Amino acid sequence: MARGIVECPSCALDVDRDKHPDVCPYCGYEYPEEKPTKRITAVLFIVLMLLFVFATAC
Ligand SMILES: [Zn+2]
Repeated sequence: MARGIVECPSCALDVDRDKHPDVCPYCGYEYPEEKPTKRITAVLFIVLMLLFVFATAC
């Protein structure tokens, strides 16, 4: 999947993520992996929070 030019969160330089998908070539910053399991965990957490709110509201 093409990511294109993305600003590095560490040194704020524009990095071609297609050529450097893992590490920033300027400062060596390791980009966090966008794993789908993290998104599932976040969604589950939100659902649990909503269930907790509804359970206490009744
Ligand atoms: Zn950088």
